[in-house]
Amino acid sequence: MALVLGGDRPSDVTVASNLAGMSEILDAVRSGASAEELASTDMPAMTRAVFVRRDEQTMFDGMLSGDKDPRRSLHVDEVPLPQLAPDEVFVAVMASSINFNSVWTSIFEPLSTFGFLDRLGKESIWGQRHALDYHVIGSDAAGVVLRAGSAVRNWKVGDEVTVHCNYVDDQDPTSHEDSMLSSSQRIWGFETNFGGLADIAVVKANQLMHKPTHLTWEEAAVNALCNSTAYRMLVSHNGAPVTQGDVVLIWGASGGLGSFAVQHVLNSGGTPVGVVSSDTKVKTLHELGCEYVIDRRANEYRFWKDEHTQDQGEWRRLGNDIRALVGEDPDIVFEHPGRSTMGASVFVAKRGGTIVTCAATSGYMIEYDNRHLWMKLKTIKGSHFSNYREAWAANQTIIDGKVVPPLSAVFPLEETGVAAFEVHHNRHEGKIAILCVAPEEGLGVTNSELRARVGEDRLTIFRRHDREPL
Ligand code: NAP
Repeated sequence: MALVLGGDRPSDVTVASNLAGMSEILDAVRSGASAEELASTDMPAMTRAVFVRRDEQTMFDGMLSGDKDPRRSLHVDEVPLPQLAPDEVFVAVMASSINFNSVWTSIFEPLSTFGFLDRLGKESIWGQRHALDYHVIGSDAAGVVLRAGSAVRNWKVGDEVTVHCNYVDDQDPTSHEDSMLSSSQRIWGFETNFGGLADIAVVKANQLMHKPTHLTWEEAAVNALCNSTAYRMLVSHNGAPVTQGDVVLIWGASGGLGSFAVQHVLNSGGTPVGVVSSDTKVKTLHELGCEYVIDRRANEYRFWKDEHTQDQGEWRRLGNDIRALVGEDPDIVFEHPGRSTMGASVFVAKRGGTIVTCAATSGYMIEYDNRHLWMKLKTIKGSHFSNYREAWAANQTIIDGKVVPPLSAVFPLEETGVAAFEVHHNRHEGKIAILCVAPEEGLGVTNSELRARVGEDRLTIFRRHDREPL
């Protein structure tokens, strides 16, 4: 029996369901059925999925952020599949991943995501499907196309795909110079329903990309969101593109974003200086080819003396440590921790340098000394995910084996809450994958020759280190 919220209008209904994850078409996908077989097998009415519930969105009110527990708010159960819009596909999700936005949704910070769904629900008839009393989350996926809507031209049943999370309305004129500038731009599985942490996800055709053939499903599932974001920030002309010889300071350099940022800087001929918080992470980065690494925990930087006051001496100490390593200040600072580091980031950037930021994990009310910005002609550049062109180019770096997936751990769909807890508490490295339809790890490689060329050692760098105990 499964608790089902929703339908045309959300209401609590209890219905009989299949065993979690069991359906004829998913079994067919698992056994490598042909496109014709998949097309002739019925779609189920329900799918297993990870979701938060509207009636629980205040469950953590009054608690400290660190005490809000994704294991309590993320549910795994069967939910109904919506009708497919003409420009959408159903994807059998072989594997997905935990992104930090899964954490934000699960702790209802900084906002409950039901507000996003309700706004989308008001936009169109198809948008109405999203405004439910449950929110199926997840902004990454690798899988197989099960059905394609009538307006889908470039993809067909049976295609093996990865999914990027830029969800745009192509009938909105503001979507057409750079879709990230679109006033209707959303992140799939965060600001929309029917995301990737499910056996079957609903995906717009313009989110699809080819699955890298040398990767397993779980390796293929962890890249699109973080790699595309780092690509726009450090490679695309829309961000702060690295040129040969640039020094780039990368906060959280062995985390989701940082592990891709390091690889893009190296590929562009720059010099990454990674900041991390453990000896294990220092070793991981050395194996990835990042020679210069700062352990912020060992160095005990205290950028904030107290809640209201920053310590410029500590900013200077970080700057001196960077100079001692590479002999100069960073041309670019790759920012995302936010409040705890932004003052230091603005200070240590080179005269004329750029601080490119896409997030504020530790707090979004930022404080920095503006004198260091204007007197030294620095720029703060905001960035957010990537447009389809950038996501496609970022995916190509994976397809070519020039960037490797920083997969560190794999959890089953039922344990998504535990995986999100790990990420929330910074107990992970790189990316955590979630197995959905794939029955076990290690499946999905169709080009072993390329895999051998990229190298098993390189592909498993992030899996060779034990995580630190709490
Ligand atoms: P992640 O895997 O948790 O990595 C973040 C890293 O940041 C951690 O490994 C940690 O590294 C470091 N860190 C955390 N708190 C810090 C602090 N107070 N001071 C210094 N370093 C700190 O997360 P992620 O996937 O990289 O995402 C990071 C942030 O970016 C999240 O807020 C996420 O929501 C956001 N994001 C935004 C976009 C976008 O498109 N706008 C895309 C992806 C992610 P150490 O402890 O080793 O230093």
